[in-house]
Amino acid sequence: MSTTVVIADDEAIIRLDLKEILLEAGYDVVGEAGNGEDALKLIRTLSPDLALLDVKMPGKTGLEVARDLGEHPRTSVVLLTAFSQRDMIEEARTAGVAAYLVKPFRRHELLPALSTVLFRARETEAIEGEVTGAAEDKLETRRRVEAAKGALMEHHGMDEEEAFGFIQRTAMATRQRMRDVADQVVGGTLQP
Ligand SMILES: [Mg+2]
Repeated sequence: MSTTVVIADDEAIIRLDLKEILLEAGYDVVGEAGNGEDALKLIRTLSPDLALLDVKMPGKTGLEVARDLGEHPRTSVVLLTAFSQRDMIEEARTAGVAAYLVKPFRRHELLPALSTVLFRARETEAIEGEVTGAAEDKLETRRRVEAAKGALMEHHGMDEEEAFGFIQRTAMATRQRMRDVADQVVGGTLQP
């Protein structure tokens, strides 16, 4: 199933551009909006995997839309901004924004950035799926998995996605928790 995306920008030409790049790359653009209110409605109705939101739009800004979504279970938000603003970046972080891109973006910057966002969303989902306990447990699992990923990347030449994939697959195949597999990697008793 392809990745679903909602795009929102008040400039039709930017939406057109984005849509073309996304469709060519195999994404499924399920909705388009020219202002913040419509974007919010579309995201709540369609629950896409990704929402690409312009910061400066009539009505709600992309940042306000991100904030209103709160802890939306499915959608990763990527902001599109005309220039890099330090204040905005800090606000974006607290609003749960997954990434931001500075316009004019290029296809070869946009697509890897979206892949990274989707990878992180899958990773978070996998970790949260394994850990049913308190928030500290999730943090602890993430901390151990991060350490193991670091070791795999440093000593075995893996990239981040390969490293996480190894931990996840090994956990499934051996019916262990990812945090235990991660400990074995860090302890040197398990090697790819
Ligand atoms: Mg705009």
